[in-house]
Amino acid sequence: MTVIRARILGFCPGVRRAVRIAEDAAGRAPVRVLGQIVHNRHVSDRLASLGAIEAGRDEILAAPRGTGVVIRSHGAAPDVYDAMRGAGLSVIDATCPKVATNQKKAADASRAGRRVVVAGDKGHGETQAVAAWAPGSVIVSCAAEARELILDGPVTLVAQTTFSEGEYAAIRDALAASGRDLEDLGGICSATRDRQAALRELCDHVDAVVVVGGRNSANTRRLAELARALGKPAWHIESADELPLELAAYGRVGLSAGASTPDEDIVAVEDRLAAMHGNRGGA
Ligand code: SF4
Repeated sequence: MTVIRARILGFCPGVRRAVRIAEDAAGRAPVRVLGQIVHNRHVSDRLASLGAIEAGRDEILAAPRGTGVVIRSHGAAPDVYDAMRGAGLSVIDATCPKVATNQKKAADASRAGRRVVVAGDKGHGETQAVAAWAPGSVIVSCAAEARELILDGPVTLVAQTTFSEGEYAAIRDALAASGRDLEDLGGICSATRDRQAALRELCDHVDAVVVVGGRNSANTRRLAELARALGKPAWHIESADELPLELAAYGRVGLSAGASTPDEDIVAVEDRLAAMHGNRGGA
């Protein structure tokens, strides 16, 4: 078996930055992290061992005054900042700058009297936070939902940074079909596009694909779905010990990983695959 890595895979710049901010903060004093810093339990466990403990909002608000609270790369709603500061906590903001830009643009549009539509996964923390910065906004996950919206006045559309480009375009077309005043802010991050493009290239050279990343990581799930859509058998695994034995039947196995997957998880899977049968390569 030959193992071929996608040209771009794993941690995106925003996640790498957030993890580094949490590590640096924990190096000075124990801190809390609001929610899961990235959708990867290995990263959570490692940060906890360094003193950056993930916790829910209520638990954090009960922490001693002065405790540092890291806001993850997904960002948070404005009332979260108010509550943390009101409780005397020290906010350490690791919101990805690209997410912060989407929040600001959504807030500006809302202030200008436009109805903001956020295209994204309804349960995703980033999407909920962007929506919270734009009072009166609505989240839609597919074109069918967009078609059912009853909206008066001008509309501004903004994306969850990791949303599917195809679904975003379908939502935009559905909103534009009614002839309304539609402002298209976009907002999908190139990190997602880059990983998807690298996976497309990879699929031209392999017989099967392994995608490494947390099960609750939307962008990781989409990479596995993309590989299957391109006709490749694909497995989404969290760690090397989940590698299926069927992989031994494939001569060339491609390796990709979501934007929340740390380097050490990728290397562990790569090593286990190589140990199955042999060589490594690069796409
Ligand atoms: S995917 Fe892009 S926007 Fe989202 S955290 Fe990573 S770099 Fe930031």
